[in-house]
Amino acid sequence: MDKLAIVVPCYNEEEVLKIASEALRGVLNDLIGKGKIAEDSFILFVNDGSKDRTWELIEEEHAAHPVQVCGVKLAANVGHQFALTAGLLTAKDISDVTVSIDADLQDDVNVIEEMIDKFHGGCDIVYGVRKERKTDTFFKRTTAQAFYKLMGLMGVKTVYNHADFRLMSKRAVEEFSRYKETNLFLRGMMPLIGYQTDSVYYDRKERVAGESKYPLKKMLALAFNGISSFSVKPISLILGLGLFIIFASFLALIYAMISYFTGHVVPGWTSLIISIWFLGGLQLLAIGMVGQYIGKIYIEVKQRPRYNIEKILTAEEK
Ligand code: UDP
Ligand code: MG
Repeated sequence: MDKLAIVVPCYNEEEVLKIASEALRGVLNDLIGKGKIAEDSFILFVNDGSKDRTWELIEEEHAAHPVQVCGVKLAANVGHQFALTAGLLTAKDISDVTVSIDADLQDDVNVIEEMIDKFHGGCDIVYGVRKERKTDTFFKRTTAQAFYKLMGLMGVKTVYNHADFRLMSKRAVEEFSRYKETNLFLRGMMPLIGYQTDSVYYDRKERVAGESKYPLKKMLALAFNGISSFSVKPISLILGLGLFIIFASFLALIYAMISYFTGHVVPGWTSLIISIWFLGGLQLLAIGMVGQYIGKIYIEVKQRPRYNIEKILTAEEK
């Protein structure tokens, strides 16, 4: 039987912690009862340097339910993506399959069962995808959609409307642990892992209690990080722009020459305007060229795994 670990990053979540613990224990007991997961499956709360009583509450819950509620205490606040990574990497050594979910229960805990079924059906990663964003404000909805579009344009593969509610098998988390980069954007990294994946769909709810820990500033930072950690396309755009302006400078040359010969110009204008266009284009082109190398260095230093072997067929195959 597979041992499930539900990983929950928590930052200042004292209002929701007990509610989350109860709801998730309910899910565990239900799945244990149905014989879908091992009896020692557990919830792993990761306290991301909370300033309130979150950790004390995790300790209390652990004392009351020593098997089902476990905790990891990070020494300082490192942000959602790192906290979740800490939880996943801790869980992978003591479980067979993980499900990550936010503490505020905005994601539907009832689809965890469906995720487990898909896992038993052979999937290594199951994405939780929001059906609609009815409960989000108009602003959050449109900005989020613009963000997914932009990511797509920049060539970053992400699952549309999927945040960090997802099931990962032990081997998927193990493969993920080979990605040593520090600029984490988990949603972009998971599709790189490969394996068989699937999605489950649910309605996203309002936060059970407390306030969002993701203000606009953090959201923009995440979005920028997502693009800059996965794509060197912006550099190529600069290179393209440089080429375009050099081309345009020839048109400017023709236009300036015509103006010159038809005699409508102030002395000195022709040579100046041609120089401005040409040099401007040349500079952009040069920056873009240098950028190409920097982009390559960037990709190299990340040292991402180049491939993930799923199976090998040989004579000694067991
Ligand atoms: N979170 C975290 N560290 C942070 C900020 C948030 O671990 O620095 C956790 C938070 O406790 C929650 C999850 O990340 O479990 C998502 O945050 P939130 O629900 O506030 O984001 P929103 O749903 O509003 O985008
Ligand atoms: Mg939330």
